[in-house]
Amino acid sequence: MHVRQQVPDQLPVKSESSFVNIHEYQAKEILDRFGVPTPRAEVASTASEAKEIASRIGGRVVVKAQVHAGGRGKVGGVKLVETPEEAKQVTASLLGTRLVTNQTGPSGLPVEKVMIAETLDIKDELYLSIVIDGDIGAPVVMASTEGGMEIEQVAEATPEKIFRVAGDPLIGLTTYHARDIALALGVPAKALRTTTKLVTDLYRVFIENDCSLVEINPLVITKDDQVAALDAKINLEDDALFRHPELGGLRDSNQQDPLEQRAEQADLAYVKLDGGRVGCMVNGAGLAMATMDITKAAGADPANFLDIGGSADQARIEEAFKIIMDDDDVEMILVNLFAGIARSDIVAQGIVAAAKETDAQLPMVVAMRGTNAEEGIKILADSDLNITGAPDLAGAAVVIKQKLQELEGSN
Ligand code: GDP
Ligand code: MN
Repeated sequence: MHVRQQVPDQLPVKSESSFVNIHEYQAKEILDRFGVPTPRAEVASTASEAKEIASRIGGRVVVKAQVHAGGRGKVGGVKLVETPEEAKQVTASLLGTRLVTNQTGPSGLPVEKVMIAETLDIKDELYLSIVIDGDIGAPVVMASTEGGMEIEQVAEATPEKIFRVAGDPLIGLTTYHARDIALALGVPAKALRTTTKLVTDLYRVFIENDCSLVEINPLVITKDDQVAALDAKINLEDDALFRHPELGGLRDSNQQDPLEQRAEQADLAYVKLDGGRVGCMVNGAGLAMATMDITKAAGADPANFLDIGGSADQARIEEAFKIIMDDDDVEMILVNLFAGIARSDIVAQGIVAAAKETDAQLPMVVAMRGTNAEEGIKILADSDLNITGAPDLAGAAVVIKQKLQELEGSN
Protein backbone atom coordinates (compact mmCIF):
# COMPACT_ATOMS: atom_id res chain seq x y z
CA MET A 1 0.00 0.00 0.00
CA HIS A 2 1.43 3.34 -1.02
CA VAL A 3 0.12 5.39 1.84
CA ARG A 4 2.31 8.35 1.11
CA GLN A 5 0.58 9.13 -2.16
CA GLN A 6 -2.62 9.83 -0.28
CA VAL A 7 -1.10 12.65 1.71
CA PRO A 8 -2.46 15.98 0.49
CA ASP A 9 -0.21 18.84 -0.40
CA GLN A 10 -1.13 21.37 2.23
CA LEU A 11 -0.67 21.37 5.99
CA PRO A 12 -3.32 19.25 7.66
CA VAL A 13 -6.36 21.09 8.89
CA LYS A 14 -6.38 20.98 12.67
CA SER A 15 -9.22 18.89 13.98
CA GLU A 16 -12.05 20.70 15.69
CA SER A 17 -12.05 18.74 18.91
CA SER A 18 -10.34 20.37 21.85
CA PHE A 19 -6.98 19.46 23.26
CA VAL A 20 -4.91 19.92 26.37
CA ASN A 21 -1.67 21.81 25.95
CA ILE A 22 1.19 20.90 28.30
CA HIS A 23 4.52 22.52 29.19
CA GLU A 24 7.83 21.76 27.51
CA TYR A 25 9.26 20.20 30.68
CA GLN A 26 6.26 17.87 30.90
CA ALA A 27 6.55 16.96 27.22
CA LYS A 28 10.23 16.23 27.81
CA GLU A 29 9.34 13.81 30.62
CA ILE A 30 7.05 11.92 28.25
CA LEU A 31 9.76 11.83 25.56
CA ASP A 32 12.23 10.50 28.14
CA ARG A 33 9.86 7.67 29.03
CA PHE A 34 9.70 6.62 25.37
CA GLY A 35 13.43 6.78 24.81
CA VAL A 36 13.49 9.95 22.70
CA PRO A 37 16.80 11.71 23.47
CA THR A 38 16.47 15.18 25.03
CA PRO A 39 19.00 17.43 26.75
CA ARG A 40 19.36 16.88 30.49
CA ALA A 41 17.01 19.31 32.22
CA GLU A 42 15.03 20.10 35.36
CA VAL A 43 12.24 22.49 36.14
CA ALA A 44 12.47 25.32 38.71
CA SER A 45 9.90 27.62 40.33
CA THR A 46 12.38 29.87 42.14
CA ALA A 47 15.63 31.58 41.23
CA SER A 48 17.64 29.72 43.87
CA GLU A 49 16.30 26.38 42.64
CA ALA A 50 17.42 27.40 39.17
CA LYS A 51 20.91 28.10 40.50
CA GLU A 52 21.09 24.69 42.20
CA ILE A 53 20.00 22.90 39.05
CA ALA A 54 22.48 24.86 36.94
CA SER A 55 25.35 23.85 39.21
CA ARG A 56 24.18 20.24 39.18
CA ILE A 57 24.16 20.20 35.38
CA GLY A 58 27.42 22.14 35.24
CA GLY A 59 28.87 24.46 32.61
CA ARG A 60 26.81 26.54 30.26
CA VAL A 61 23.04 26.01 30.57
CA VAL A 62 19.94 27.37 28.92
CA VAL A 63 17.09 28.96 30.92
CA LYS A 64 13.72 28.44 29.24
CA ALA A 65 10.50 30.15 30.30
CA GLN A 66 7.69 27.58 30.58
CA VAL A 67 4.61 28.96 28.84
CA HIS A 68 2.12 27.31 26.53
CA ALA A 69 3.54 28.98 23.43
CA GLY A 70 6.54 28.88 21.14
CA GLY A 71 8.49 31.81 19.76
CA ARG A 72 10.15 32.30 23.15
CA GLY A 73 13.68 32.49 21.79
CA LYS A 74 13.01 35.69 19.86
CA VAL A 75 11.68 37.57 22.89
CA GLY A 76 14.15 36.62 25.62
CA GLY A 77 12.28 33.58 26.92
CA VAL A 78 15.18 31.25 26.08
CA LYS A 79 18.60 32.39 27.34
CA LEU A 80 21.99 30.77 27.33
CA VAL A 81 23.98 31.49 30.51
CA GLU A 82 27.54 30.71 31.54
CA THR A 83 27.25 30.32 35.31
CA PRO A 84 24.79 29.16 38.01
CA GLU A 85 24.71 32.71 39.36
CA GLU A 86 23.69 34.01 35.94
CA ALA A 87 21.02 31.27 35.71
CA LYS A 88 19.67 32.59 39.00
CA GLN A 89 19.56 36.19 37.76
CA VAL A 90 17.93 35.34 34.44
CA THR A 91 15.35 33.17 36.23
CA ALA A 92 14.58 35.99 38.66
CA SER A 93 14.02 38.37 35.75
CA LEU A 94 11.64 35.93 34.04
CA LEU A 95 9.55 34.58 36.91
CA GLY A 96 6.44 36.60 37.64
CA THR A 97 6.44 38.31 34.25
CA ARG A 98 4.18 37.67 31.29
CA LEU A 99 5.92 36.53 28.14
CA VAL A 100 4.53 37.94 24.92
CA THR A 101 5.51 35.96 21.83
CA ASN A 102 4.08 35.87 18.31
CA GLN A 103 1.99 32.92 19.50
CA THR A 104 0.52 34.29 22.74
CA GLY A 105 -1.63 37.25 21.80
CA PRO A 106 -0.91 40.74 23.13
CA SER A 107 -1.40 40.04 26.84
CA GLY A 108 1.11 37.18 26.89
CA LEU A 109 1.27 34.22 29.27
CA PRO A 110 2.50 34.09 32.87
CA VAL A 111 5.96 32.66 33.54
CA GLU A 112 5.65 30.61 36.73
CA LYS A 113 8.37 28.05 36.01
CA VAL A 114 11.56 27.84 34.03
CA MET A 115 13.36 24.79 32.69
CA ILE A 116 17.11 24.69 33.13
CA ALA A 117 18.71 22.53 30.47
CA GLU A 118 22.13 21.37 29.46
CA THR A 119 23.29 23.16 26.28
CA LEU A 120 24.24 21.25 23.19
CA ASP A 121 26.70 22.18 20.47
CA ILE A 122 24.33 22.45 17.57
CA LYS A 123 25.43 21.64 14.04
CA ASP A 124 22.01 21.63 12.42
CA GLU A 125 18.41 22.53 13.40
CA LEU A 126 15.68 20.36 11.84
CA TYR A 127 11.92 20.06 12.17
CA LEU A 128 9.82 17.00 13.01
CA SER A 129 6.16 16.78 13.96
CA ILE A 130 3.18 14.45 14.01
CA VAL A 131 -0.44 15.58 13.68
CA ILE A 132 -3.74 13.98 12.79
CA ASP A 133 -4.68 14.76 9.22
CA GLY A 134 -8.47 14.80 9.20
CA ASP A 135 -8.63 14.57 5.40
CA ILE A 136 -7.00 11.17 5.23
CA GLY A 137 -7.92 10.06 8.73
CA ALA A 138 -4.40 9.18 9.82
CA PRO A 139 -1.44 10.58 11.71
CA VAL A 140 1.01 12.36 9.43
CA VAL A 141 4.68 12.78 10.18
CA MET A 142 6.09 16.04 8.83
CA ALA A 143 9.81 16.57 8.51
CA SER A 144 11.85 19.46 7.26
CA THR A 145 15.45 20.53 7.11
CA GLU A 146 14.23 24.05 7.99
CA GLY A 147 14.24 23.72 11.79
CA GLY A 148 14.01 26.55 14.29
CA MET A 149 11.50 28.55 12.26
CA GLU A 150 7.74 28.23 12.19
CA ILE A 151 6.45 25.45 9.96
CA GLU A 152 3.64 27.69 8.68
CA GLN A 153 6.29 30.00 7.21
CA VAL A 154 8.12 27.10 5.61
CA ALA A 155 4.83 25.85 4.17
CA GLU A 156 4.19 29.30 2.72
CA ALA A 157 7.61 30.10 1.30
CA THR A 158 9.13 26.70 0.45
CA PRO A 159 6.42 24.02 0.65
CA GLU A 160 8.68 21.57 -1.20
CA LYS A 161 10.88 21.50 1.89
CA ILE A 162 8.25 19.72 3.97
CA PHE A 163 8.34 15.96 3.67
CA ARG A 164 5.20 14.08 4.72
CA VAL A 165 4.50 10.48 5.48
CA ALA A 166 1.21 9.12 6.74
CA GLY A 167 1.24 6.36 9.32
CA ASP A 168 -1.24 3.56 8.82
CA PRO A 169 -3.78 3.61 11.66
CA LEU A 170 -3.60 -0.19 11.96
CA ILE A 171 -0.01 -0.97 11.03
CA GLY A 172 1.61 2.12 12.49
CA LEU A 173 4.71 3.72 11.04
CA THR A 174 7.00 1.16 9.45
CA THR A 175 10.75 1.27 9.97
CA TYR A 176 11.34 1.96 6.30
CA HIS A 177 9.04 4.98 6.54
CA ALA A 178 10.93 6.18 9.60
CA ARG A 179 14.19 5.73 7.68
CA ASP A 180 12.77 7.66 4.70
CA ILE A 181 12.04 10.52 7.09
CA ALA A 182 15.56 10.42 8.53
CA LEU A 183 16.94 10.50 4.98
CA ALA A 184 14.67 13.42 4.08
CA LEU A 185 16.02 15.27 7.11
CA GLY A 186 19.47 14.90 5.55
CA VAL A 187 21.08 13.71 8.76
CA PRO A 188 24.72 12.60 8.59
CA ALA A 189 25.31 8.89 7.93
CA LYS A 190 26.46 8.40 11.50
CA ALA A 191 23.07 9.68 12.81
CA LEU A 192 20.84 7.77 10.41
CA ARG A 193 20.15 4.83 12.71
CA THR A 194 19.55 6.95 15.83
CA THR A 195 17.29 9.35 13.92
CA THR A 196 15.28 6.46 12.46
CA LYS A 197 14.81 5.12 15.98
CA LEU A 198 13.87 8.59 17.24
CA VAL A 199 11.16 8.92 14.58
CA THR A 200 9.79 5.47 15.47
CA ASP A 201 9.78 6.27 19.19
CA LEU A 202 8.18 9.67 18.62
CA TYR A 203 5.40 7.98 16.67
CA ARG A 204 4.80 5.74 19.69
CA VAL A 205 4.67 8.84 21.90
CA PHE A 206 1.96 10.21 19.65
CA ILE A 207 -0.14 7.02 19.46
CA GLU A 208 0.25 5.70 22.98
CA ASN A 209 -0.59 9.02 24.63
CA ASP A 210 -3.45 9.90 22.27
CA CYS A 211 -1.76 13.13 21.22
CA SER A 212 -3.22 15.52 18.70
CA LEU A 213 0.18 17.14 18.14
CA VAL A 214 3.79 16.32 18.83
CA GLU A 215 6.20 18.92 17.51
CA ILE A 216 9.98 18.91 17.85
CA ASN A 217 11.31 22.25 16.69
CA PRO A 218 14.22 22.16 16.57
CA LEU A 219 15.34 18.58 16.35
CA VAL A 220 19.08 19.04 16.47
CA ILE A 221 22.15 17.30 15.16
CA THR A 222 25.08 18.05 17.44
CA LYS A 223 28.68 18.63 16.37
CA ASP A 224 29.42 15.01 17.33
CA ASP A 225 26.49 13.76 15.21
CA GLN A 226 24.10 12.96 18.04
CA VAL A 227 20.41 13.65 17.52
CA ALA A 228 18.18 15.23 20.21
CA ALA A 229 14.80 16.89 20.69
CA LEU A 230 15.82 20.39 21.81
CA ASP A 231 12.29 21.74 22.11
CA ALA A 232 9.05 19.78 22.48
CA LYS A 233 5.41 20.70 22.18
CA ILE A 234 2.70 18.15 22.91
CA ASN A 235 -1.07 18.53 22.73
CA LEU A 236 -3.22 15.78 24.21
CA GLU A 237 -6.58 14.86 22.77
CA ASP A 238 -9.18 15.94 25.30
CA ASP A 239 -11.66 13.18 24.49
CA ALA A 240 -9.07 10.48 25.15
CA LEU A 241 -7.67 11.85 28.43
CA PHE A 242 -9.82 9.46 30.46
CA ARG A 243 -7.54 6.69 29.16
CA HIS A 244 -4.49 8.42 30.64
CA PRO A 245 -5.10 9.24 34.29
CA GLU A 246 -1.35 9.94 34.63
CA LEU A 247 -1.62 12.78 32.09
CA GLY A 248 -4.80 14.44 33.38
CA GLY A 249 -2.87 16.37 36.03
CA LEU A 250 -0.67 18.09 33.44
CA ARG A 251 -3.27 20.74 32.67
CA ASP A 252 -2.15 24.23 33.68
CA SER A 253 -5.19 26.46 33.71
CA ASN A 254 -3.05 29.50 34.56
CA GLN A 255 -1.81 29.33 30.97
CA GLN A 256 -5.34 29.63 29.68
CA ASP A 257 -7.13 32.87 28.97
CA PRO A 258 -9.39 33.49 32.04
CA LEU A 259 -12.41 33.89 29.77
CA GLU A 260 -11.58 30.61 28.05
CA GLN A 261 -11.38 28.97 31.46
CA ARG A 262 -14.80 30.29 32.42
CA ALA A 263 -16.25 29.11 29.11
CA GLU A 264 -14.77 25.66 29.61
CA GLN A 265 -16.32 25.42 33.07
CA ALA A 266 -19.73 26.38 31.67
CA ASP A 267 -19.26 23.88 28.82
CA LEU A 268 -19.31 26.65 26.21
CA ALA A 269 -16.99 26.88 23.24
CA TYR A 270 -15.22 30.27 23.32
CA VAL A 271 -12.63 31.47 20.85
CA LYS A 272 -10.80 34.76 21.34
CA LEU A 273 -9.76 36.55 18.16
CA ASP A 274 -7.16 39.29 17.97
CA GLY A 275 -7.92 42.76 16.76
CA GLY A 276 -11.72 42.59 16.41
CA ARG A 277 -14.48 44.69 18.00
CA VAL A 278 -17.63 42.60 17.62
CA GLY A 279 -18.50 39.94 20.20
CA CYS A 280 -20.40 37.08 18.58
CA MET A 281 -22.84 34.69 20.20
CA VAL A 282 -23.93 31.86 17.94
CA ASN A 283 -25.17 28.31 18.15
CA GLY A 284 -23.13 25.81 16.16
CA ALA A 285 -19.64 25.81 14.66
CA GLY A 286 -20.83 26.15 11.06
CA LEU A 287 -22.93 29.14 11.96
CA ALA A 288 -19.88 30.64 13.69
CA MET A 289 -17.92 30.41 10.42
CA ALA A 290 -20.73 32.01 8.41
CA THR A 291 -21.10 34.73 11.04
CA MET A 292 -17.39 35.45 10.90
CA ASP A 293 -17.54 35.84 7.11
CA ILE A 294 -20.51 38.18 7.31
CA THR A 295 -19.12 40.39 10.08
CA LYS A 296 -15.83 40.64 8.23
CA ALA A 297 -17.63 41.50 4.99
CA ALA A 298 -19.39 44.29 6.89
CA GLY A 299 -15.96 45.68 7.71
CA ALA A 300 -16.07 44.60 11.36
CA ASP A 301 -13.74 41.93 12.66
CA PRO A 302 -15.08 39.65 15.39
CA ALA A 303 -13.39 40.03 18.78
CA ASN A 304 -14.50 36.57 19.84
CA PHE A 305 -16.91 33.74 19.26
CA LEU A 306 -19.07 32.04 21.79
CA ASP A 307 -20.85 28.92 20.67
CA ILE A 308 -23.70 28.16 23.06
CA GLY A 309 -24.39 24.80 21.39
CA GLY A 310 -27.73 23.11 21.16
CA SER A 311 -29.21 22.67 24.60
CA ALA A 312 -28.35 25.83 26.45
CA ASP A 313 -30.36 26.72 29.56
CA GLN A 314 -30.87 30.26 30.77
CA ALA A 315 -28.03 30.17 33.30
CA ARG A 316 -25.55 29.11 30.63
CA ILE A 317 -26.77 31.81 28.25
CA GLU A 318 -26.28 34.34 31.02
CA GLU A 319 -22.73 33.15 31.62
CA ALA A 320 -22.07 33.14 27.86
CA PHE A 321 -23.25 36.72 27.59
CA LYS A 322 -21.15 37.82 30.57
CA ILE A 323 -18.05 36.20 29.09
CA ILE A 324 -18.54 38.16 25.88
CA MET A 325 -19.11 41.36 27.87
CA ASP A 326 -15.95 40.81 29.94
CA ASP A 327 -13.83 40.83 26.81
CA ASP A 328 -12.43 44.37 26.82
CA ASP A 329 -12.19 44.48 23.04
CA VAL A 330 -15.95 44.10 22.55
CA GLU A 331 -17.74 47.29 21.47
CA MET A 332 -20.80 45.68 19.98
CA ILE A 333 -22.52 42.32 20.23
CA LEU A 334 -23.92 40.20 17.45
CA VAL A 335 -26.27 37.39 18.43
CA ASN A 336 -26.90 35.07 15.53
CA LEU A 337 -29.20 32.24 16.49
CA PHE A 338 -30.61 29.51 14.34
CA ALA A 339 -32.75 27.83 16.93
CA GLY A 340 -33.39 24.14 16.48
CA ILE A 341 -33.01 22.41 19.80
CA ALA A 342 -32.10 25.70 21.43
CA ARG A 343 -35.13 27.92 22.11
CA SER A 344 -34.99 31.57 21.11
CA ASP A 345 -37.15 32.69 24.08
CA ILE A 346 -34.79 31.03 26.57
CA VAL A 347 -31.77 32.63 24.90
CA ALA A 348 -33.54 36.02 24.93
CA GLN A 349 -34.37 35.69 28.64
CA GLY A 350 -30.74 34.80 29.37
CA ILE A 351 -29.50 37.83 27.45
CA VAL A 352 -31.90 40.20 29.21
CA ALA A 353 -31.05 38.80 32.65
CA ALA A 354 -27.30 39.01 32.04
CA ALA A 355 -27.51 42.49 30.54
CA LYS A 356 -29.45 43.72 33.59
CA GLU A 357 -26.95 42.20 36.00
CA THR A 358 -23.93 43.63 34.22
CA ASP A 359 -25.59 46.92 33.44
CA ALA A 360 -24.61 46.43 29.80
CA GLN A 361 -25.39 49.22 27.41
CA LEU A 362 -23.40 48.03 24.44
CA PRO A 363 -25.30 48.06 21.17
CA MET A 364 -26.56 44.62 20.27
CA VAL A 365 -27.70 43.27 16.93
CA VAL A 366 -29.82 40.15 17.12
CA ALA A 367 -30.83 37.77 14.35
CA MET A 368 -33.09 34.95 15.53
CA ARG A 369 -34.81 32.30 13.48
CA GLY A 370 -36.29 28.90 14.27
CA THR A 371 -37.88 27.63 17.45
CA ASN A 372 -39.83 30.35 19.29
CA ALA A 373 -38.05 33.10 17.34
CA GLU A 374 -41.03 35.47 17.54
CA GLU A 375 -41.28 35.13 21.32
CA GLY A 376 -37.53 35.64 21.60
CA ILE A 377 -37.56 38.79 19.51
CA LYS A 378 -40.51 40.13 21.51
CA ILE A 379 -38.72 39.55 24.83
CA LEU A 380 -35.72 41.50 23.54
CA ALA A 381 -37.85 44.28 22.04
CA ASP A 382 -39.81 44.71 25.31
CA SER A 383 -36.60 45.03 27.32
CA ASP A 384 -35.00 48.45 27.57
CA LEU A 385 -31.74 47.17 26.12
CA ASN A 386 -29.98 48.78 23.18
CA ILE A 387 -31.07 46.10 20.72
CA THR A 388 -31.66 46.12 17.01
CA GLY A 389 -33.41 43.12 15.55
CA ALA A 390 -32.45 41.81 12.13
CA PRO A 391 -34.38 39.35 10.01
CA ASP A 392 -31.30 37.37 8.98
CA LEU A 393 -27.53 37.37 8.93
CA ALA A 394 -27.22 39.58 5.85
CA GLY A 395 -29.58 42.10 7.47
CA ALA A 396 -27.54 41.91 10.66
CA ALA A 397 -24.40 42.78 8.72
CA VAL A 398 -25.99 45.94 7.37
CA VAL A 399 -27.02 47.01 10.89
CA ILE A 400 -23.56 46.28 12.28
CA LYS A 401 -21.99 48.47 9.64
CA GLN A 402 -24.36 51.34 10.53
CA LYS A 403 -23.76 50.93 14.25
CA LEU A 404 -20.00 50.87 13.84
CA GLN A 405 -20.19 54.08 11.82
CA GLU A 406 -22.30 55.65 14.57
CA LEU A 407 -19.70 54.58 17.15
CA GLU A 408 -16.93 56.11 15.07
CA GLY A 409 -18.95 59.28 14.65
CA SER A 410 -19.39 59.66 18.40
CA ASN A 411 -15.69 59.07 19.18
P1 GDP B 1 11.06 28.58 21.09
O1 GDP B 1 11.68 29.84 20.56
O2 GDP B 1 9.95 28.87 22.06
O3 GDP B 1 10.63 27.67 19.99
O4 GDP B 1 12.18 27.84 21.97
P2 GDP B 1 13.30 26.76 21.56
O5 GDP B 1 13.45 25.79 22.67
O6 GDP B 1 13.02 26.17 20.22
O7 GDP B 1 14.64 27.61 21.50
C1 GDP B 1 14.80 28.65 20.57
C2 GDP B 1 16.20 28.62 19.98
O8 GDP B 1 17.17 28.78 21.00
C3 GDP B 1 16.56 27.32 19.29
O9 GDP B 1 16.09 27.26 17.96
C4 GDP B 1 18.08 27.34 19.35
O10 GDP B 1 18.60 28.08 18.25
C5 GDP B 1 18.37 28.12 20.62
N1 GDP B 1 18.79 27.16 21.68
C6 GDP B 1 18.01 26.54 22.58
N2 GDP B 1 18.72 25.67 23.33
C7 GDP B 1 20.01 25.75 22.86
C8 GDP B 1 21.25 25.09 23.19
O11 GDP B 1 21.34 24.23 24.06
N3 GDP B 1 22.35 25.45 22.48
C9 GDP B 1 22.31 26.38 21.50
N4 GDP B 1 23.44 26.68 20.85
N5 GDP B 1 21.18 27.00 21.16
C10 GDP B 1 20.03 26.69 21.81
MN1 MN C 1 11.04 25.82 19.34
